[in-house]
Amino acid sequence: MDAQRVIGVDLGGTKIACGVVDRDGAVRMRRERPTPTASQNELLEGLDEVVEELLDDGVGAIGFGIPSRIDQRSGRTLSSTNIPLEGVDFRDRMSERFGLPVGIDNDGNAATIAEWRFGAGRGVRHMVMLTLGTGVGGGLILDGRPYRGSIGAGAELGHMVIDYDGPPCQGTCRGHGHLEVLASGTAATAAAHAVLGGHATARQLVERAQQGDAAARNALAEIGRRLGAGLVTIVNVFDPELIVIGGGFAAGAGDLVLEPARELALSESLTPTNELLRIVPAELGPEAGLVGAGLVAFEALDAAA
Ligand SMILES: [Zn+2]
Repeated sequence: MDAQRVIGVDLGGTKIACGVVDRDGAVRMRRERPTPTASQNELLEGLDEVVEELLDDGVGAIGFGIPSRIDQRSGRTLSSTNIPLEGVDFRDRMSERFGLPVGIDNDGNAATIAEWRFGAGRGVRHMVMLTLGTGVGGGLILDGRPYRGSIGAGAELGHMVIDYDGPPCQGTCRGHGHLEVLASGTAATAAAHAVLGGHATARQLVERAQQGDAAARNALAEIGRRLGAGLVTIVNVFDPELIVIGGGFAAGAGDLVLEPARELALSESLTPTNELLRIVPAELGPEAGLVGAGLVAFEALDAAA
């Protein structure tokens, strides 16, 4: 099969983004719609509809980036923190329904692969990515290839422990003081409530900080230092040459969060990795998840050839 285009579907907690993706990462016929979260059936039907809209004879495979833990051996979604998707033989279901090879991956992995191939990570062999959004996702490129662990459920970098006695983690996670609850956009919303009151948003907190408000700047710097603490662990464990920070909250807050994170990560991690390491913002923006889903589809297409 020599199809040069696939359908990529980036399933998020609030919206589904999808499109037709070429081998060079270009996206055409982009579509977006709210994620149906009332039930698992509605969610699956919503996914069917967006694929059907884009499907034609030239499409060779379909790839899904999903905010779930996945067993890659069976193609089953094990559990999801923020959407109703649990215990579904997802890859088989989609492959049977559409008669095409189907690839699935965790959304953090998909974004990581996209940044590695076409974004901030081009040309590196050892890279870690973190995405700061509603939660904290991430992925690993180790020795020049994506690393997904023994069953394919890795790497949930957002659930690393920063403070074992800290606040309960989000959604279905039973841990405490995880990076996800301390350095996500949701954490920034909580900080906005504390600093600006009642209904303030993370975006307003960032705006106030950009205007020079000391309390707002301190709150974002504290989130940055928590992120930095997570980065120290990542640097010491993986010895990466590059760390890429993406996700909507990170893009909005920029150096207000990234600079304190960088400072703590580089000063407290082991030498000489910290002298060689670069910590940079992602380059593909919200498109990373969709492009990554497309690359996962090409992986399935090439494996089936
Ligand atoms: Zn957690």
